[in-house]
Amino acid sequence: MSTSAPRTRHPGPRRAFCPFCGRAQTDTLVSDVSGPEGALCVGRCAAAWQVLAALRLCEAESEPVAARKRAESEAQGPRAPALSELLLGRWRAGDWTVSPEDLIGQL
Ligand SMILES: [Zn+2]
Repeated sequence: MSTSAPRTRHPGPRRAFCPFCGRAQTDTLVSDVSGPEGALCVGRCAAAWQVLAALRLCEAESEPVAARKRAESEAQGPRAPALSELLLGRWRAGDWTVSPEDLIGQL
């Protein structure tokens, strides 16, 4: 009997995936990127990521936003999404009506 053990196929080097849209980066390997930002698509995803990072920073430091969150957690009602969450949801859904390239200039 010459049944050789099934050869475990060596998976190729792992491709990095864009943390924003989830697209595989054909010429970027996981081993090449140091953080999630490294695998972002050039252009729109990178711009969107930059805008959201800046917005989250503003939201984290904003007293009105903090006050609203406190009020919402006390009321235990539905929480209104922050601007960064709204935009993230829209962009991930493919709605680019508000473009990150425009927002970058305003931040
Ligand atoms: Zn992307």
